[in-house]
Amino acid sequence: VNVVVCVKQVPGPDAPARLDAGTHRPAREGEVVLDDADSYSVEVALRLVEEAGGGEVALVSMVPDGAVTGVRTALAMGADRAVVVSDPALAGSDGLGTAKVLAAVVRRSLPDLVLAATESTDGYTGTVPVQLAALLGWPAVSFAKAVALAGDRLRVQRQTDDGSLEVECPLPAVVTVTAGVVEVRYPSFKGIMSARTKPVEQLDLAALGLSPEEVGETGARQQVLSVRAGEARAAGEVVVDDGVAHEQIVAALRTWKIL
Ligand SMILES: Cc1cc2nc3c(=O)[nH]c(=O)nc-3n(C[C@H](O)[C@H](O)[C@H](O)COP(=O)(O)OP(=O)(O)OC[C@H]3O[C@@H](n4cnc5c(N)ncnc54)[C@H](O)[C@@H]3O)c2cc1C
Repeated sequence: VNVVVCVKQVPGPDAPARLDAGTHRPAREGEVVLDDADSYSVEVALRLVEEAGGGEVALVSMVPDGAVTGVRTALAMGADRAVVVSDPALAGSDGLGTAKVLAAVVRRSLPDLVLAATESTDGYTGTVPVQLAALLGWPAVSFAKAVALAGDRLRVQRQTDDGSLEVECPLPAVVTVTAGVVEVRYPSFKGIMSARTKPVEQLDLAALGLSPEEVGETGARQQVLSVRAGEARAAGEVVVDDGVAHEQIVAALRTWKIL
């Protein structure tokens, strides 16, 4: 089985994601890492290929400046190859623009299955995978808890608020994997060493046959109008216990209508 996993490379913990108040664009400083949300889909893809006894896990990532540090983590986990798309004209892309780029890459290899996370941890619109499925004309199954091949069909357990649903769809399909549903393997030393030499293809828009007008700020149907910082959390009330603190706490809980 051939699986493509969409992996977003996001700012690392040393420079958490934020939107620049002036440009309204994601501030990119420091090294990018594999989005934690995407590590689960990489794990699910590796297990599917292992269980099927053959095939490949290919990665696709759209990112400014051809960054590969996050992609290398997924290659070290065991993915076989990666395609990284970068182009100055991609600046300001919305979810649809991103989906157009990912669809163009998927069409080049026509895998059996595309996996993505339900939402990224920095932009978190949660719209890219379903738009990708619509552009490809493939079924989209969201919030997967478990994924298994059943002949030429795919059986997916979908997470719901109070349990799960079992659904089946024909392949090829796009599936979004819920964060935390599998234990993600750590890259082994051998994996880290071999990731350095695994193929990483760098493409721009022209190589994908996409015009700059379709994507980026010009092609975007969604625009960030303003960026505001959240309100700073007010300091709480400190209760010093002189024997009646419990009464003060109960009174406070009553005021807040918690009791
Ligand atoms: C103001 C602004 C400026 C931007 N500038 C640039 C830029 O200069 N260069 C650039 O490349 N992008 C740029 N982008 C695109 C941005 O980085 C996101 O890829 C895009 O907006 C998707 O949003 P999301 O994180 O909400 O996706 P979600 O729908 O929440 O993501 C869900 C899943 O879809 C997949 N996915 C999403 N994005 C990508 C991706 N980029 N690559 C691979 N898989 C993905 C992942 O599996 C992810 O977990 C910009 C976006 C905005 C809003």
